[in-house]
Amino acid sequence: MSGITIALSKGRIFEETLPLLAAAGIVPAEDPEKSRKLIIPTNREDVRVVIVRASDVPTYVQYGAADLGIAGKDVLLEHGGAGLYQPLDLNIARCRMCVAAPVGFDYAAAVRRGARLRIATKYIAVAREHFAAKGVHVDLIKLYGSMELAPLAGLAEAIVDLVSSGATLKANNLVEVEEIMPISSRLIVNQASLKVKREILQPVIKAVEEAIR
Ligand code: ATP
Ligand code: MG
Repeated sequence: MSGITIALSKGRIFEETLPLLAAAGIVPAEDPEKSRKLIIPTNREDVRVVIVRASDVPTYVQYGAADLGIAGKDVLLEHGGAGLYQPLDLNIARCRMCVAAPVGFDYAAAVRRGARLRIATKYIAVAREHFAAKGVHVDLIKLYGSMELAPLAGLAEAIVDLVSSGATLKANNLVEVEEIMPISSRLIVNQASLKVKREILQPVIKAVEEAIR
């Protein structure tokens, strides 16, 4: 296909990406929150945007169905990053990955005792690595959303999730007990596209890079 395809997810990533695309002279023709279209043209005939689930963005770019994409570090770590070039940290959609537990649960004491902990999370790969590095024994339970419910419902002792203000944790009587890593979104590029479509891609990457400075 001539031209380039950019994979984006709806919501905060789309919103925070708009100014960066604008700096590269790219303006989507429609708002994905209002339109049901999954392929959105832009003001540039050679650039289109596809709207996919946040966790599917790396997959589209890996296989070249999209040339460019924007994905959170959380999503990229779970995906593994195969076939992806990651030239820029965009510093958008910032939050942190952390371990959270119910207010009354003494997480540190449980870890010191060497207790086996049940941890519910969407981020199995990150959680596995984190607890292995600390020598904490865990049973990981995969969830796809609403992680905060798991300790309240007795599914797990703690969760690994993304936190920004902490309001959702607080509303569910949970507290952050350990920070795992800071998270932000990255520009990702298909490695083959970078060679074949260099003429179109390079100026876009450069404009985005200048816009984040
Ligand atoms: P879906 O809603 O399709 O299940 P999602 O919940 O991962 O996917 P978003 O909530 O839009 O989708 O999150 C997209 C990305 O934004 C995440 O991968 C993460 O990098 C970042 N993010 C998630 N939660 C927050 C937050 N509270 N504050 C800032 N950034 C966040
Ligand atoms: Mg979400």
